[in-house]
Amino acid sequence: MERKDLKSLDYGELQQEMERLGQKGFRAKQMYQWFHEKLADTPRDMGNLPQSLKNQLTEEYDCTNLEMVDVLISKTDGTRKYLFRLEDGNVIESVLMKYKHGNSVCISSQVGCRMGCRFCASTLGGLTRNLRPGEMLDQIYKIQKHSGERVSNLVVMGTGEPLDNYENLLKFIRMLSDEHGLHISQRNITVSTCGIVPRMYDLAEEKLQITLALSLHASSQEKRKELMPIAYKYEIHEVLDACRNYFEKTGRRITFEYSLVGGVNDSDRDVQRLSELIRGMNCHINLIPVNPIKERNYVQSERRVVDNFKTKLEKCGINVTIRREMGRDIGGACGQLRKSYMDRNKGEGQE
Ligand code: SAH
Repeated sequence: MERKDLKSLDYGELQQEMERLGQKGFRAKQMYQWFHEKLADTPRDMGNLPQSLKNQLTEEYDCTNLEMVDVLISKTDGTRKYLFRLEDGNVIESVLMKYKHGNSVCISSQVGCRMGCRFCASTLGGLTRNLRPGEMLDQIYKIQKHSGERVSNLVVMGTGEPLDNYENLLKFIRMLSDEHGLHISQRNITVSTCGIVPRMYDLAEEKLQITLALSLHASSQEKRKELMPIAYKYEIHEVLDACRNYFEKTGRRITFEYSLVGGVNDSDRDVQRLSELIRGMNCHINLIPVNPIKERNYVQSERRVVDNFKTKLEKCGINVTIRREMGRDIGGACGQLRKSYMDRNKGEGQE
């Protein structure tokens, strides 16, 4: 039987385990605090636990404890990119971004991804596996400890499709926003999806206050299919209906992400069609100048094209921001740190 990961157990589950081990009720509370408030790496770090229990926990359970393989720190804006190794040897990446309103962490939700978006580096090797709740939490815990900065905001926009790892994602969000954990407000949590329609409807029923970001990236079904294979499964209007439903059920304004790809989705016609598509919706558009990856020949839209795109959308009464490129001096965004690490190590293995 697979060993349970202590860091992935919520409070109720930890209580059950302690009961099973014949431990007193307060042990579960102590341990939960150690893991999720005091950010202990493993039971061995839990000062007030009896040695016999620490030994038993170490022998009979797993405990996520990410190993930091690499950290790149930007000299210009303090952005930090982290590469972590999991117990099974896989690597994932996470980012810390410092803003005036607080510190935001971007985490990965899967090892690799099977969604196949054409411009994205994280999907090139396909999906390896889902991350457990403890592995999502530990990215934030390790970053908070390493940087000494309190993390106040979270975006699930790293490698992986969070709604393709739905149960683990929900448990993770509940544990992260729990008052007995880091207690990050759900209003400060954003989950980005390529548009898995049934899961978007499910999410609307979960009574969460999180923001849903939809990767739209195109102004028509035809163009979306060219960039995002998921569009073959869920048609653009179905996805937008799911967004409308999310707003109706939760009252949370939708964010649309639109990566501008030079000559592909950045024309005046695109602006016009896009504004028609989302007319009347309570939303916000985040324009992302595409980060070119060497495996594909997509290029960034020119700066004046990006600015023009923004101005024209604003004229239609739409809220727009252009995503600031953080950590420019430490190179490659969107899964490219992990990708370059894997390419390097593959090369070494073959020699
Ligand atoms: N799977 C989720 C979250 C992961 S990526 C999703 O699809 O939303 C977070 C955002 O970055 C998505 O909008 C994604 O489309 C975008 N993205 C990925 N690679 C990119 C690149 N090279 N340039 C610009 N945006 C990219």
